[in-house]
Amino acid sequence: QAERKPLIAGNWKMNKNHFEAIKLVQEVAFALKDADYDRAEAVVLPPFTDLRSVQTLVDGDKLRLGYGAQDVSAHEQGAYTGEVSAAMLAKLGCSYVLVGHSERREYHAEDDALVNAKAKVAFAHGITPILCVGEGLDVRKAGGQVAHAAAQVEAGVKGLTAEQVEKLVIAYEPVWAIGTGEVATPADAQEVCGQAVREKLAELYSAETAAKTRILYGGSVKPDNIAGIMAEQDVDGALVGGASLKGEDFAKLVRLG
Ligand code: PEP
Repeated sequence: QAERKPLIAGNWKMNKNHFEAIKLVQEVAFALKDADYDRAEAVVLPPFTDLRSVQTLVDGDKLRLGYGAQDVSAHEQGAYTGEVSAAMLAKLGCSYVLVGHSERREYHAEDDALVNAKAKVAFAHGITPILCVGEGLDVRKAGGQVAHAAAQVEAGVKGLTAEQVEKLVIAYEPVWAIGTGEVATPADAQEVCGQAVREKLAELYSAETAAKTRILYGGSVKPDNIAGIMAEQDVDGALVGGASLKGEDFAKLVRLG
């Protein structure tokens, strides 16, 4: 775990108006302006329409806050109305992009092949994908969570080089724990992050490669539950939805991460 820098990423989803977004990113940046800030990496993932403002604030103030997008087109360019390309995100200074968030898989019918194509196009433009995996309640109740996430990981990394997998971030987000207040136990998080993600990557690539990939847990992470989850050996950070919308809470999570 020592060489994997903890990563706390805030997924704002479709929240905040433009002024609120500017206020939030400033609050986060100012709350983190001290020495501790360097221990964990902090990243915000605002809506597309706020990326230019976030870029200006972060660059202008020389704040060490990373940012990225919540989705990317699998296509390079062309007649894809409404989509945003990886080249466009790169131009806006994005370092990260979520691919395969459960809300994209569920409401936009994104399958593993599309998620894999998105991860590839992100890498091609120098952006690190955060590949999201995780089971619904039915799979969890049937005890199939490890097999489910392992299959999503295998399909999601298909064709990626070992070097890319070492940079990749994988987020395990059980769907039943997202936005529900229902947090997985630290042991639940470790089971999937360890067995379905790290062990699967070791099998597909090598133990050395798998040891470098950062694995996040996501699902109702809050300041009062992050420490227990982060204490698990294969959990290297958190993907945070609701609690990333309050500057103070998100900064607290970064400090605790
Ligand atoms: C998410 O959707 O990525 C997420 C983890 O949301 P929440 O923290 O609100 O459960």
